[in-house]
Amino acid sequence: MKIIAVGMNYAAHNKEMQHTLELTEPTFFMKGDSSLLKDGKPFFIPDFSSEVHYETEIVIRINRLGKNIAERFAHRYYGEITVGIDFTARDLQKRLRSQGLPWEISKAFDNSAALGTFIPVSETEGIDHIPFHMEINGQTVQEGNTSQLLFPVNRIIAHASRYFTLKIGDLIYTGTPSGVGPVHIGDHLQGYIGDRKLLDFYVR
Ligand code: ZN
Repeated sequence: MKIIAVGMNYAAHNKEMQHTLELTEPTFFMKGDSSLLKDGKPFFIPDFSSEVHYETEIVIRINRLGKNIAERFAHRYYGEITVGIDFTARDLQKRLRSQGLPWEISKAFDNSAALGTFIPVSETEGIDHIPFHMEINGQTVQEGNTSQLLFPVNRIIAHASRYFTLKIGDLIYTGTPSGVGPVHIGDHLQGYIGDRKLLDFYVR
């Protein structure tokens, strides 16, 4: 399986990152299956970064093979969602970006894609109305709703499938709202969709 992640998909996050770019289509980067962190396992801060940020995101699991999917049919290609964290080695990303180099290693390193427990979309308010938030040590640090996405889920799927064949089990991380920040050893991270806690693990 592969992980397709969307960059800069919430206006307020783009502002906090000083991205002035006006995007006319979604921007993607990829992670591999070695990036996955599941089942409440701890996240170990890697030795190559001293500034690892959490990015809380709604994650979609693809359940049908698809290529060149039309936006109006995109809802047929997933049935379950969860909340996840797109861990980012921000110091590395900044350095590579300033050098004009690809910043893959700052995003796709081992265990950089934390993944919660999936729930059916049918148990939610609908894909474009998903409220989610993340708590660190009991304090809410990030809050969002898929209604605020610059590019909604079905458009992401349509656009991504022009370039990448979507396969069963592929994951799409849909982008992070504002409020990103560093994690520290000992932090307790808990991610929610609505009031359902789907993600719960520690930083070590
Ligand atoms: Zn992200």
